[in-house]
Amino acid sequence: MKFTIFSKSSFSFFIFVILCFSISCKTQELKLITVKGEIPVEKMGICLIHEHILVDFIGADSTGYHRWEKSKVIECALPFLMEAKKNGVKTFFECTPAYLGRDPLLYKELSEKSGINIVTNTGYYGARDNKFFPKHAFDDTAEDIAKVWIEEFNNGIEGTGIFPGFIKIGVERKDTLSPMHAKLVKAAAIAHKATGLTIVSHTGTDDPAFAQLEILKNEGVSPEAFVWTHAQHGTIEGYIKAAKQGAWISLDNIQKLSDQSDESRGIAFYAKILTELKKVNLLHKVLISHDAGWYNPGQENGGKFRGYNNIFNDLIPALKENGFSDDDIDLMLVKNPQNAYAVKIRVIKL
Ligand SMILES: [Zn+2]
Repeated sequence: MKFTIFSKSSFSFFIFVILCFSISCKTQELKLITVKGEIPVEKMGICLIHEHILVDFIGADSTGYHRWEKSKVIECALPFLMEAKKNGVKTFFECTPAYLGRDPLLYKELSEKSGINIVTNTGYYGARDNKFFPKHAFDDTAEDIAKVWIEEFNNGIEGTGIFPGFIKIGVERKDTLSPMHAKLVKAAAIAHKATGLTIVSHTGTDDPAFAQLEILKNEGVSPEAFVWTHAQHGTIEGYIKAAKQGAWISLDNIQKLSDQSDESRGIAFYAKILTELKKVNLLHKVLISHDAGWYNPGQENGGKFRGYNNIFNDLIPALKENGFSDDDIDLMLVKNPQNAYAVKIRVIKL
């Protein structure tokens, strides 16, 4: 007797299902948006998630590309990027927002010259009394502001053909958010839901971190989409509470100071916080970086440039003395950035 499992038509249906499945798997491949285009997150390698090439503090009303010469900035910054590359860095997040010195074409050139992936951002920085806010943002609604950022995500930044890889905002380090900053966070929530870009917010202490998480949750955005930037000014209780909600804890001003006491926020300070976070099994929510650089157009020859090496030269040896394994380090520098910055809409059910 002839025995067949599938009839011809059910066999072709089976093939069709397999094809659909493999196509949908493909579209779910997670990506990062760099200044040179998209890359799969697996290619990110060692990441520095919060650094700067150039920061211009003159204010939104006076800044612009006329304030610096790209070739001079490249001459200054490239050796520092090459040094980071020697330490294994593959991907570099430039966290300078628009109106504070963001220059996508400069990053693209530096990325091409160094071979390091560079990621830029969209968004506005509200801290420092809104000095870096563009005029339109004062009166615009959250929806109007978000529209500008979504436009950059869809069509690129200022006709450069370069796209933002995350949303950068900044709020004042105060107990409560001003209406203006609450609006900024709401705009970030709207833009996240439209783009899947991660929200990186200059925050500092616990109170503004939780105030922002509340706004995001009210807008239906998961804390998983939020990076609590400059969390080194927060508390361990705050880290535990935020990380358990899903937020990312960014300890991002790692540097070697002459005073290495716990109070100094030098290497010993960071090694201590990270050891406490490891003890409570939260290393999988931690991001680390230097917040270093940068060429300052307001100073002669760009002022003093701080390099991007203290994590490799100083922090990692200190962590290893405290029992950290290579896997722990890999988690913070490679795997967590992939999970935090993959472009993906992260919402909660309201
Ligand atoms: Zn910064």
